[in-house]
This record gives sequence, C-alpha cells and structure tokens, in this order.
Amino acid sequence: MSAPTLGFTPTLRFAPSPNGRLHLGHAASALLNAEIARRLGGRLLLRIEDIDPVRSRPELAAGIVEDLAWLGLRFPEPFRRQSDHMGEYRAALLSLAERGLAYPCFCSRGAVAARLAALGVEGSDPAPDPDGTPRYPGTCRHLRAGEAGARRAAGEPHGWRLDMARALAAAPGPHAWTAFEPGGHERRVAADPARWGDALIGRRDVPTSYHLSVVLDDAAQGITHVVRGRDLEAATDLHVLLQHLLALPSPRYHHHPLIVDEGGAKLAKSKGSASLADLRAEGVSPESVRARLGFALL
Ligand code: GLU
Repeated sequence: MSAPTLGFTPTLRFAPSPNGRLHLGHAASALLNAEIARRLGGRLLLRIEDIDPVRSRPELAAGIVEDLAWLGLRFPEPFRRQSDHMGEYRAALLSLAERGLAYPCFCSRGAVAARLAALGVEGSDPAPDPDGTPRYPGTCRHLRAGEAGARRAAGEPHGWRLDMARALAAAPGPHAWTAFEPGGHERRVAADPARWGDALIGRRDVPTSYHLSVVLDDAAQGITHVVRGRDLEAATDLHVLLQHLLALPSPRYHHHPLIVDEGGAKLAKSKGSASLADLRAEGVSPESVRARLGFALL
C-alpha cells in the first residue's frame, strides 16, 4: 500500500461500544486498524460509541482505553464520545424530517409485531432486513402531519424512521461504496439500501441510532478508511445512502472476517468469551495475545 501520495492524512477509527469489556475479536479489529493506519502512514482515532444510555457505562469506556493501552495501542486525545454529540445528531435528524425524508414512528416493538401479524406475516417477513429483522410495515409513514405533530406535542414516545422510498427518490443512485484490501486493491461494490426498508435512524430514548451517528461521526472525524467486521458490511449500503442525503464524504471500507470460537460462533461477552481483562488477570501477556491474533510484529 503506497499511500502517503493520497494528498490527505489517512484517518482510521476504532469505535467500540462501552457495554462490555473488549474480547479477542475487538482486539483483532483494533490491531488491524492500527496495522493499516501504520502502512498508510495515517492516524488511528478512538471513538466511544455510547449512545445507549442504559447499556453504556463510563467505567467500561475507561476499561476499554486501559485494555487497548495494555495491547500497545494509544490514541490521540480527546476521544470522541457519541454521548457528547446528541445535539448534532438531533439537528441531522430534524433536517431529514424537514425534507420529508424521515418521519416520527410511535410504534413500540410489540405494535410492529402485531401489525406484521395482522398483515399475515406472522413474524416471518419474507424480506427481513440484513440483520434478520422483519422490515417495518410502514404504520406511521402516512400519518397526517397534524396527527404526528399533535402526538409529539402530547409527549408520546417516538423514534424516527427513514422514508426509504422518498430517500431513494431524493438520491436515486445507483449507490455504491469503495472496498479496499489491506494490500491496496480497491473495488466498487454496488449498494442496495432499499433492503433495509424504513430503517430506524432515531431511537425512542436518544435522537439518533447506530446508523445515523456512525455516518455523522465518520465525517466529523475526517475518517478516510473504515476498518470493521463483516457483520457490519450490509450496513454500509445504508450508510452510503445517508452520506448522500446529508452531503457527507464517503470513506473507503474494509470489512474483516470475525474471530469465531471453536464452535464457529461469533465471540460475545454474553456467550462468556474471555475478555482481554480476564486474559490479563490470568497472566497472559499482550505479546502473546498479539501473536495469537497474527500481529506479533506490531
Ligand atoms: N460500535 C460498533 C461495535 O462495537 C462498531 C461500529 C463501526 O465500526 O462502524 O460493533
């Protein structure tokens, strides 16, 4: 990869959610980010993805920073914390709503399930979104503006959804993103954002969602290369549409394979995968963790 000719500073980010300590899968992703940043002559930033007010805990964020330092990874400070930027997310959400591209959604999960069942879908939507969730049946899409406004004014809890048909009419595409390999090869990948349906871009509890925050933050931090797991590859289709609608630059993407356990399942704290903190407490050295993940030379 012969990058310093790019004419800008390649900028990468590692973006953990502080709802648990890091495990080996996170370590592999962070180390790959660091390795690619090094090869590109660029920099690696840390972003704390703490939009979830219940699951995110400041002590876990501090633990993550500690685990990364133990692994040998240090990041320029201050780190971007998503919880500090709710005003920016809200403004983007409202600008989409003002353009008729997003609408308030008053449906609880139960209401969505009941609506799907009433439509005869019975929980097995023939076209689930790429996360396997049945696509939103559109209940609130056609609420009259007056009714939606009155319900909001009355304080009824609501999230916000992208109106996919209108969004695609505003940004017809064809949409695509640039995939890059750590070796330097690049290719364009066709994106199909429609498979996400009317995606939730603002949650009931916070005026954003993973999808909205990630595109706004990547732009705000000047991210040029996103290196993240393959579990997020399908989300990139939606991210490029949001970038288009919000006039944000689109980084290049590399989606790496996930580290799996002996049974082939993705590592997760909920499944008891050892955290880096556990390994450290057992006396495992950072060198051996790096070697096990193939980053001995970092
Ligand atoms: N916060 C996400 C996670 O921990 C990563 C988001 C991203 O890299 O786009 O899985």
